[in-house]
Amino acid sequence: MSYTIQQVLIPSPSGYQQSGYAVVDVQIEGDRISAIAPQLEAQGTVIDGRNKLLLPGFVNAHTHSSELWQRGLIPPLPLELWLAHLYDFTPLEPEQIYLSALGTAVETLLSGGTTVVDHLVLIPGRERETIAAAIRGYREVGIRAYVAPLIQDEPFAMALPKGDHKTPALAASEAAPTTAEVLELMQDTIEQYHCPEEGINIVVAPTGIQLCSDALFAGCIELSDRHNLCRHAHLLESQAQQMLAQEKYGCSAVKHLAEIGYLGSRTSLAHCIWLTDADIELMATTQTTVVHNPLSNLRLGSGIAPVLKYRQAGVNVTFGCDGSASNDSQDLLEALKIGSILHNVTDRDYRNWLTPRETIEMAALGGAKGLNAADQRGSLAVGQQADLVLYDLTSLSLLPRTDPIGLLVLGRPSQAVDRVWVNGNPIVTDGQITTLNTTQLRQDLFNQSQWVSNLSSPTMKEMEVRYREVMGLS
Ligand SMILES: [Zn+2]
Repeated sequence: MSYTIQQVLIPSPSGYQQSGYAVVDVQIEGDRISAIAPQLEAQGTVIDGRNKLLLPGFVNAHTHSSELWQRGLIPPLPLELWLAHLYDFTPLEPEQIYLSALGTAVETLLSGGTTVVDHLVLIPGRERETIAAAIRGYREVGIRAYVAPLIQDEPFAMALPKGDHKTPALAASEAAPTTAEVLELMQDTIEQYHCPEEGINIVVAPTGIQLCSDALFAGCIELSDRHNLCRHAHLLESQAQQMLAQEKYGCSAVKHLAEIGYLGSRTSLAHCIWLTDADIELMATTQTTVVHNPLSNLRLGSGIAPVLKYRQAGVNVTFGCDGSASNDSQDLLEALKIGSILHNVTDRDYRNWLTPRETIEMAALGGAKGLNAADQRGSLAVGQQADLVLYDLTSLSLLPRTDPIGLLVLGRPSQAVDRVWVNGNPIVTDGQITTLNTTQLRQDLFNQSQWVSNLSSPTMKEMEVRYREVMGLS
């Protein structure tokens, strides 16, 4: 298929540092942008781009799709106690996994995203079905998906620092899978599903240092090198994890991950809040990407990632929504807004603050870089893959006419996404997903859930006393 988008507004072709805009025609041929220039000869389907803004698609660079089933549910709690709830109320049916992948894809697409990185929580004992169900959902919608099965080889009980205690806070209620089992699952998943040409990429993604052995990291590095896969993990999301790293390695988690070779230009790490200046330097020299999840970090009281410091050190930073139970939505534009203005309170020198154009660049090009795909996506340039989003500048939320990118980032855009292409395929037209019956999705999500009036987590009850003590709260 080919398309000509006529007379559409784009950021000044000289780059995001400029403030201007240009009115051009943009042609898509097959999966690529084939031309960008004023008044091109029309080819294929002609689309009226007047009063519309065209941008490269953003990357929702860290989420956990199945948390959709727990959004709005968990009370305000810090990460470790929030996780106890998540653990107790996790969805257990592959059909739910499929539906929450659809919901995550839809919300990402309708807030400017064309790619999702799903750090997919696996149903214990039904890991392969979980992965199959999520991939079925992403294939059906047509969003570009990086599916990163969330793996670990240590029991949940190990995630809290021990402090002065000799034993973990929880009795290990179930044994963790062995390292060999986890790596075998990954090997099978890669062989069965990794297919970048079809928009499905498998990512190696140990959950983080808190629940993973060095052997698991080493196995993931080997798989990633052998199959040219991206690497992902959580990193230093909470102060408890910083303490745990010291207990476990006697050094910072970043130093340890650098030593075992997990960092690098194909590695993106979610959160990165509790890092020292030396850690930031290591992130820069290894060209590791930081995925900033501002809504989740605020919701869980995790802290404020030093994003301005990262930028000054030359670290690539992009944005994620994180899972829906800690956000509690998948609105990428909301993550961009909070993720840019949040940092104004961390640095008195306003010249260091993020501008709306820098924010857009971090979400699109920064996202592509974090997936080692900046040569393929993330920019409006001839030859790039056509992952594009067209915004309707006559939407009430984007009026009156001021600076389109300024208002898109700093405002509260609603129903602003008019069309989306992923790999040249139209996925959204006139603000509607065309690949999926969203009325049916609403019905299915409604039918498979219920209102919850009281919630009690036995795991949290077991953990809370120790948590308060170790964190100096008792
Ligand atoms: Zn996460």
